[in-house]
Amino acid sequence: MKKPKNATYMRQNNRTFIIQMIHKKQVSRADLARKTGLTRAAISVIVDDLIRQGIVKEAGLGESTSGRKPVVLELNNGQLYCIGISIRYDCCHIGISSINGKIITEKRLDFTNLKTAAQGIDQISAVLQSMLDTCVTEEIVVLGIGVSSPGPVDINSGIILNPPPLEVWWNVPIVTKLKERFDIPVFLDRDTAASALVEKNYGKGKKYKSFIQIDVINEGVGCGIIINDQLYRGVGGFGGEFGHISINVEGIQCRCGNIGCIECYASVSAILKTLRETYPEIQSWKDLVLRSKDDETLAKVIKNEAHYLGAGILSVMNLLELEAVILSGEVVFEPYMLIDELRQYINSRSITRSIKSIDVLISNTDYTLSFTSSATIVSEKFFSGELMDF
Ligand SMILES: [Zn+2]
Repeated sequence: MKKPKNATYMRQNNRTFIIQMIHKKQVSRADLARKTGLTRAAISVIVDDLIRQGIVKEAGLGESTSGRKPVVLELNNGQLYCIGISIRYDCCHIGISSINGKIITEKRLDFTNLKTAAQGIDQISAVLQSMLDTCVTEEIVVLGIGVSSPGPVDINSGIILNPPPLEVWWNVPIVTKLKERFDIPVFLDRDTAASALVEKNYGKGKKYKSFIQIDVINEGVGCGIIINDQLYRGVGGFGGEFGHISINVEGIQCRCGNIGCIECYASVSAILKTLRETYPEIQSWKDLVLRSKDDETLAKVIKNEAHYLGAGILSVMNLLELEAVILSGEVVFEPYMLIDELRQYINSRSITRSIKSIDVLISNTDYTLSFTSSATIVSEKFFSGELMDF
């Protein structure tokens, strides 16, 4: 983190730095002056502004080694709200949370029979307006709206591109459409990028600086990559397409244009397809895991899944040298066999195997069930200073 300088053009950086410090722990104005190198007067201007905006509040008296006890400051967590809209394959989760992750309100919309995106945006807007009317009183600061969708999405222009099988949402400028209806900053991101932010801030990724989060669901295999505590997006936001790493150059033709992509072998629907003729009763990953306990062939299917994922993970690890892999999605149901095999596969083959092992973990969160990962897009922007209005 850069130390701020006492100059006008650095105002936004100074504010961000101060917000980050107050977010970490309660501090006094004198602490802030000492740690930033800014003058007491400069700190007072920024802090008074933050208090006036409802972002920071005074939280009583702190400890003092000599003399008067100082007034300490803390973030006004309970009054800073983030809105999340998670567009999924068959539904949409909408909700409001406080900036520290407390859920204020949430609702699920069933989109199984959604005919057009315009219809979906109407429904989302109606629910959101009702939530704002009910839950947002005058003293509340709504920081922004985070929208997540399966990729690919264009985060810069705010357009959902062409995620199969979400044809209804193809080429929809969701950010512009929501900005037309709400006077609130709106941001779009890939669903798995948003999930990785949740892992980084609240989940298993908290203790790592660099990790990959891999989400294996029925429709595909997504990922979010955190490098040095930052989400890695690539130049245009299209990076992190783990599911489209090829593990077989003479393999199955993938819908993305490549051949032999991980997703063609390791998505839950791909696995179930291979079992359709011999085990027609197996309809889900859960069915497969339960049946595999007394069926060697099915146990082998789970081990193969570990090998497909492992081959891709190894490439990522050998390229980027991350510390850990966090798995989420449908495959985390009783994942003992899958995880054991994955750990063994990766740690017996990685280039760094003689020096250190790569941690393989299971996420505690089911990202298909909630809006919270989308709300995290907003809090991340707030703490990184990208929300310039605040
Ligand atoms: Zn592909």
